[in-house]
Amino acid sequence: MTVTDDRDALLAAIDLADMFEAKGFPKARNGMYPCPNPNHAQTGATPPVNIDGHVWHCHNPTCDASGTAIDLLAYTDRLDVAEAFAELSRRAGTPTSNGSSSRVTDVYPYTDEHGEPLFEVVRLDPKGFRQRHTVNGALV
Ligand SMILES: [Zn+2]
Repeated sequence: MTVTDDRDALLAAIDLADMFEAKGFPKARNGMYPCPNPNHAQTGATPPVNIDGHVWHCHNPTCDASGTAIDLLAYTDRLDVAEAFAELSRRAGTPTSNGSSSRVTDVYPYTDEHGEPLFEVVRLDPKGFRQRHTVNGALV
C-alpha cells in the first residue's frame, strides 16, 4: 500500500467524534466541539468546531484550525503530522484480510464520557488493526 492508502484507510477506521470525546473535547448540546488548537483563544463561548465525516473545522475566524484525526492528535499531543500519523497508526487502522491467523499485540479501549466501553481497537501481528465492540458484555 502507498502512504496515501494507509492514511485514507487509517482515517476511515477512526470515529473522529469519538476521538474528540476521548481527547477531552466533549460534544456540546448544539452538536459542536471545543477547539483542540492550543493557540485558540478559549472564551467559554459556544464551542466552535464542527465535524463532517473525517474532517473537523474550527469556525472561529481568528483560529480557523481544521484537519483530520491526524491533525487533532498533532494538536493535543504536540506532535508533528508525521508523528501523529505514526501514533494513530499504532492505535487504529484497517482490518487485515487474514485476521484469524494474526496475533493480538495491543488493545486500545475507547470509552464514552461515563467510562462505559464503546469499542476496542486491537493491534494485530502481522500488521493490521481491527475494531471490536462490546455487546451484552461480550466482545464481538
Ligand atoms: Zn479554534
